[in-house]
Amino acid sequence: MNVDASPVRGEYKCEIYRVYVQGAIRYLLTVHDVTRTHLRELSHCVTQYLKRWTNMKKSSDPGILYHSHGLGLTSVEQIYMQQHANVIATVLTAGDASVKNALEAKVERESSLSRKSTGTLECHTVVEQSLAILSNEESQDNHETPAQTKKKLCQTVKARMQKEYDCKVEEHCSTLTVQGRWTELLEAERSDTSWRSSLSNAPRGVFEFALNGMANWLPTRDNLVRWGKLLSTKCPLCKGHQSLRHVLNACPVALTDRYTWRHNSVLKELVTTLQRWHSTLETSAVTIRCDLSPDVIEGGTHTTVPPDILPTSLVPDITVQNTAEQKLTLIELTVPFEQNAQAAEDRKLAKYEHLKEELNSHSDYSATVVTIEVGSRGWVNSDNVKKLKSLCPVRKKDSEVRELKRRLGHCALCTSYAIYCARNNPVWESPSGLFSSR
Ligand SMILES: [Zn+2]
Repeated sequence: MNVDASPVRGEYKCEIYRVYVQGAIRYLLTVHDVTRTHLRELSHCVTQYLKRWTNMKKSSDPGILYHSHGLGLTSVEQIYMQQHANVIATVLTAGDASVKNALEAKVERESSLSRKSTGTLECHTVVEQSLAILSNEESQDNHETPAQTKKKLCQTVKARMQKEYDCKVEEHCSTLTVQGRWTELLEAERSDTSWRSSLSNAPRGVFEFALNGMANWLPTRDNLVRWGKLLSTKCPLCKGHQSLRHVLNACPVALTDRYTWRHNSVLKELVTTLQRWHSTLETSAVTIRCDLSPDVIEGGTHTTVPPDILPTSLVPDITVQNTAEQKLTLIELTVPFEQNAQAAEDRKLAKYEHLKEELNSHSDYSATVVTIEVGSRGWVNSDNVKKLKSLCPVRKKDSEVRELKRRLGHCALCTSYAIYCARNNPVWESPSGLFSSR
C-alpha cells in the first residue's frame, strides 16, 4: 500500500506508520545486519516522509517526532537497535554455549572495526549493563524461569534505550535557540497522560499546528522574516511584533473577542465536568456558579460570589458553594502561553487574595482559591493535574481527571488553532457559540 500517495490526512499516515509500518519492518530489521551509516540514511529517508505528513519543514529538527513525550514514533534506527538488543538479550539469558560463542566472536570482530559498525557492540553494552542492574535488584528472587528473566531484560533494555534517545534529543534541542524551546514544556509535563491524547479527534489542521507550534516552526511573521520570505514582522491587527506567542496570547486586539471566546470555551468544558462530577453524588448541598451566560450553561450568572455571602465586585470564573460544610471554592481559569503558566497563577492568586481574606473573616464560609492554567497549545502541566484532582469529589479520580485534562487540552488547542488561522485577518468572524471538545 502506498501510504504517501493516499489522500488521508497527515496524522492518520503517522498512525499508519506507528501501527503497521513499524511492525512490518521490525522482522526485516531483526534478521539483517545493516551498517550504522546505511541505517542513518534509511532513517533519514523515513523521517522526510514523516515530516511531509506532519507539515514540518525539511530542515527542521526531527526530535519531536521520536521523543516519547512528543509524537512518540520509533525511528528505523531505534527499531533496529531495539530488535538487535532483544536478540542479544535472548542469547545471553536463554541461548546455549555455541550460540553464546558465536555472539562473543561477533562482538570481538565489531570492536576491532572502526568503520562499518552494525551496532552489535552498542547493543551488547546496553544489554550487559541492564543485566547487571537486574541481577543486583533481584538477588533474593532466584525462582525466575529463563523466559521471565528474558522478558524483564528486554523491557529494561527497551526503556533504557528510549530514555537515552530522549536525553539525546533534549540535549540537542538545548543547543537550538528557536526550535529547541519545546523541550522546556517537558520539564513541567512528566505526567502519566501525554499531551498527545489531546490531539485525538481534532479538526483538520490542528495536528500540524500542534506539532509545529511546539517547535515554533509555524509561518508567523517573525519566522517568515527569519526565513527571508517577508520584510516586516508587523502584526496586521495591532502593528506589534508578530510571533507565535503574540498571536496566541499577547495581541491586544485579539484580547477582547478572540481570547475571550477561547477562555469561555475551555471554561465551559471545565464547569460541565465539575457539574457532572457533583451530580453523581447523593448530597444536594453543592451549588456551582459560573461566569458564563445562562443561555450557554445551566448555572450561568455574572455574580458568582452570592451577595448574601459577601458583596463584591470581583467575579471568579467558577464558585463551588458547599452549604453543608460551609466551604466556598473560587476557581479562576487562565489559558496562558505554556512558558508563562507560573506567572499567570501568581497574578490570579494575588488578584483574589483579598477577597479570600474577606470571605474568611467576614462570612460564615471558609474560602479557597484554585487557579487552573491550560496552556494555549494544549499542555496541562502536572501541577494543574494535581489541582484538577483536588476539585474532583468522586471516586475513580485518576481516570476522570485524565479525561478532563484531555478535554481541556483539546479545547484550548482547537480554539487556539482558530485564533492562529485568523492571525492576519483584522475581522474576527466570531464562531457561533463556544467550542465543545469531543
Ligand atoms: Zn497583534
